[in-house]
Amino acid sequence: MSYPTASATPQRVLYDFRSDTVTRPTPAMLAAMAAAEVGDDVWGDDYTVQALEAETAELTGFEAGLFLPSGTQSNLVALMTHCQRGDEYLVGQLAHCYRWEGGGAAVLGSIQPQPLEHAADGSLPLDQLEAAIKPDDPHFARTRLLALENTIGGKVLPPAYVADALALARRHGLATHLDGARLWNAAAALGVAPAEVARGFDSVSLCLSKGLGAPVGSVLVGRKDFLSQARRWRKMLGGGMRQAGLLAEAGRHALRHHLPRIGEDHVNARLLAEGLSRFAALTVAPVQTNMLFVSVDPAIAADFAVYLRQQGVLISGVAQQRWVTHLDVDAAAIAATLRLVEAFFDPAKR
Ligand SMILES: *Cc1c(COP(=O)(O)O)cnc(C)c1O
Repeated sequence: MSYPTASATPQRVLYDFRSDTVTRPTPAMLAAMAAAEVGDDVWGDDYTVQALEAETAELTGFEAGLFLPSGTQSNLVALMTHCQRGDEYLVGQLAHCYRWEGGGAAVLGSIQPQPLEHAADGSLPLDQLEAAIKPDDPHFARTRLLALENTIGGKVLPPAYVADALALARRHGLATHLDGARLWNAAAALGVAPAEVARGFDSVSLCLSKGLGAPVGSVLVGRKDFLSQARRWRKMLGGGMRQAGLLAEAGRHALRHHLPRIGEDHVNARLLAEGLSRFAALTVAPVQTNMLFVSVDPAIAADFAVYLRQQGVLISGVAQQRWVTHLDVDAAAIAATLRLVEAFFDPAKR
């Protein structure tokens, strides 16, 4: 087989499975944004931002919400509100708010991370959490916060584990934060309301621009007094936005129209997994939500990656691939993608 190199750009992108962040606003979302009532939110005048904050708080069972431009800023603001300079947070090695946010908590918050290894299900084993809590001694940073993430790597944390971890944190006087960028997916997979997954945490960060399809935005939910401090950090970090109702309305539209269908992404991910696992060269890990992890036979991995790209199918990785389903890849897109994969393995069908 001879294909151009893996860096070849596709002629056109047909199906983009790299992430659930790649969705574009729908015409209906754009129309809602254009009609949004806006004001200066830094002055407290934007009705639409306030409505989004209140609606998200209600949906997740919290007193109040705070709209931020990104999930990264939302996590950082939460960590800086829970922890002071010289405090420490317990967090997973693979957690977004440790590994994927440029070290912001340490750089900007003077907060020390204490990363821990994950168990296979994504959880942080309770005995290791307990062992990582430092005694009150000037040698150590003050252990102040437990940060979990749900879903993590497409996996749903077992609810009984979350309850035990929260109880452990409470026993040791730690605050708790949930990075719930994809909390919606956890709730859909468990068949429960979002508030069930959020319950018991002191703060939860939620993304509107992942599975829900808004162009941008995150909401941090928690108690009112917590969020009034968080609002100061948001301003200091440059997250005070003026006529932000345009963006908030996209989030409201996403909650109303896209949240109810998020389970379809899980069905599509399973269809994709079933289809891909028919090929001996592809090993697909069990799928819980909207992410597939596929190990490709090293003998064909590079050629397969180039082929997909040439066909306009975008994914992450080469021998270890990640495929993510979302609003912009429907069941027909899955079927078409599987036909393209079949044609790779059986060139007679090309
Ligand atoms: C994407 C993501 C974030 C950050 O969101 P951005 O809006 O991209 O900054 C935080 N946590 C998790 C788990 C994410 O997947």
